[in-house]
Amino acid sequence: MKGYYLTDPWSIIEEGFDPSMQKASESIFSLGNGRMGQRANFEEQYSGETLQGTYLAGVYYPDKTRVGWWKNGYPEYFAKVLNAPNWIGIDMEINGEQLDLNRIRPVEFRRELNMQQGYLERTFAIYAGTGRLEIASRRFLSMKRDEIGAIRYTVRSVDFEGEVSFTPYLDGNVVNQDSNYDEKFWDMVSTRAVAGSAYLMARTRKTGFVTCITMGYILEVNGEAVQIEPEVVQKEDYVSNRIRVRLEVGEEAMLYKFVSVLSSMNHKPEEMVNTGIKVLIQAMDTGFERLFDEHKAVWKENWAHSDIRIEGDTSAQQAIRFTIYQLNQTYTGRDERLNIGPKGFTGEKYGGSTYWDTEAYMIPFYLSTAREEVARNLLVYRYKHLQKAIENAKKLGFTDGAALYPMVTMNGEECHNEWEITFEEIHRNGAIAFAIYNYVRYTGDRAYLASHGLEVLIAISRFWRQRVNWSGEKEKYVMLGVTGPNEYENNINNNWYTNKMASWTLSYTMEELDHLHEQDPSSFGLLVKKTGLEPQEETAAWKDIVEKLHFPYEETLKVFLQQDGYMDKEQRMAADLDPGERPINQHWSWDRILRSCFIKQADVLQGFYVFEDQFDRETLERHFDFYEPRTVHESSLSPCVHAILASRLGRTEKAYEMYLRTSRLDLDDYNHEVDEGLHITSMGGTWMSVVHGFGGLRITDGLLSFDPVLPTGWKTLSFKILYRGRTLNVHIENTKTTIENLEGDGLDLRLWGTAMHLEKSGTVVAER
Ligand code: BGC
Repeated sequence: MKGYYLTDPWSIIEEGFDPSMQKASESIFSLGNGRMGQRANFEEQYSGETLQGTYLAGVYYPDKTRVGWWKNGYPEYFAKVLNAPNWIGIDMEINGEQLDLNRIRPVEFRRELNMQQGYLERTFAIYAGTGRLEIASRRFLSMKRDEIGAIRYTVRSVDFEGEVSFTPYLDGNVVNQDSNYDEKFWDMVSTRAVAGSAYLMARTRKTGFVTCITMGYILEVNGEAVQIEPEVVQKEDYVSNRIRVRLEVGEEAMLYKFVSVLSSMNHKPEEMVNTGIKVLIQAMDTGFERLFDEHKAVWKENWAHSDIRIEGDTSAQQAIRFTIYQLNQTYTGRDERLNIGPKGFTGEKYGGSTYWDTEAYMIPFYLSTAREEVARNLLVYRYKHLQKAIENAKKLGFTDGAALYPMVTMNGEECHNEWEITFEEIHRNGAIAFAIYNYVRYTGDRAYLASHGLEVLIAISRFWRQRVNWSGEKEKYVMLGVTGPNEYENNINNNWYTNKMASWTLSYTMEELDHLHEQDPSSFGLLVKKTGLEPQEETAAWKDIVEKLHFPYEETLKVFLQQDGYMDKEQRMAADLDPGERPINQHWSWDRILRSCFIKQADVLQGFYVFEDQFDRETLERHFDFYEPRTVHESSLSPCVHAILASRLGRTEKAYEMYLRTSRLDLDDYNHEVDEGLHITSMGGTWMSVVHGFGGLRITDGLLSFDPVLPTGWKTLSFKILYRGRTLNVHIENTKTTIENLEGDGLDLRLWGTAMHLEKSGTVVAER
């Protein structure tokens, strides 16, 4: 579908209506505001293929797991993000006939996601008999008042005469497409409709989340507000008002629908109806235009910090803005109970829960573009789940406060149930530990370690200690039966990346314990008490593991091996695969995949990204040249890491190829699955591939440093970053880079290896 959406620096635009693209476009044009999200389903009825999606952050259902053979340690449920009651609905009848774009083909259909201002607009024309009507809808989910959604739905008669009826409604009769036992997830608590407004209150089964959605509307004919007595409908799970309007040639009717969407995560259920009405009335009093202005102002502020400008490549520009837009509307960092699911608010797949994706791919974006508290809240989310992670490890037989964080979770409990992932893909613990380090090195907030971070690090270190065993044969510690990031290998021994993460966690935990012991003995004492740490005994064991952990290595090639025995595999290159067999996960049996040498996503190279300062250029080059050609990039998380490493190697062509794959993954639908939702977490990686890749941002030896390298075709690349109370503007142009200090004190930094001091309000320039 390359080229289906028009290339524009600030908007995604679809021109012409193609029903076979409807589900894809519903994903692409999704809206969100951190608290709720909405696929770009039509307001009016649509009988064609569609995936209805209205989501409320943090509201889930514990769907029963379906497995062939139950294994001890499997979780009881799989948390599902829920399709919540539909609040966007406005049914339309024209002279008594339902408007349904599957039956009445529109002319001049256009849909636009305006990313600068954060709204979705759809315009089209239809013929009712011989009369032409032009219809437009604009909607947004307020970023300022995150419980408010607003729609402006306009019908203008060009040469039509007749009756048009608007039926704004709320509908609780919704299901999830992705449910294991076709259970109903919502029970209605109460509904009420009166002339002009209505509400619907529903409760999730089992988890007991309550939502109360309240709607009101204003009708204008030819720009004047009118009061028309509606037909009021109130059913068990549906409420609406039907309003009929007569339109003459040249006349226009405009319905503004306002909703307040409340969740029991933030309100007491018994107060939700009253509060919902109050919040709704405030929004209606403010009016659509002013609400929109407020919303726009938040986006303006967001873009002021997080925009990336690329001159000379509109397609890349559009893609990076799409990325930033989606990241900002998915997670705003205001609530530490929330996290970011792989599909955000754009689909049901992956259950909408938290994966290692957050720590490995999302934290860097929020660290550089948002208030410090945003990334911190993502860490606190895991801190709050520590006890659950300890219980999870206990279920698997670990003891003494060892923690295994879940592979997939909503509330800290494991939700994933494929043994090779649930029990074996334990490198996630490493990503969670590394994120703490990453946050501290970026923000300098060392206090976080004493108050939260070290507890998590100790528990993870305890896990690694118990997860390895001594091999008499190798005279080394080994880690058996794991799955690395490359999920096309399961139950392998000594995954280099996992061992590396384990060893690093142990060292880092010891380093930080020593530091705290020295700098703040009383906090150290409290920590020891709280965690029951036996400092000497435990750290001696950790040290021994660090010294004697086995890392598979191939002497002749001089490469770290992905796992023991990797070279036994038939060595083939991804480029030699028949293109008709790709992606292999859709064409090959699992057996064939497991026995092949093909790598789903960065694995050893993930380690080279994470620990890049431990390896020199030649070592990186050797590993890149060995692993990348064997990698099929069938996880959305793969190209970004390769883009960053290729940039570091100065291989701009490869980096650019990988950048396009990550940044236009959804817009060009490389993986043929955008209809299911967007790859939100890989978008964090897309951002990294620009700022860490082409921009070359690093923190090395406590210094902010940049090693920019631009792809051919990009005239300039500019981005802002927040760093320890400063706002910096980085502008890269061919061989010249300028860094301006827009806000905050002066700082030392490194640009292309040269140490410099950037004064308060100053500028540094370097040429290469
Ligand atoms: C990847 C995992 C990732 C998950 C969710 C899988 O395809 O292999 O690394 O956590 O998707 O994004």
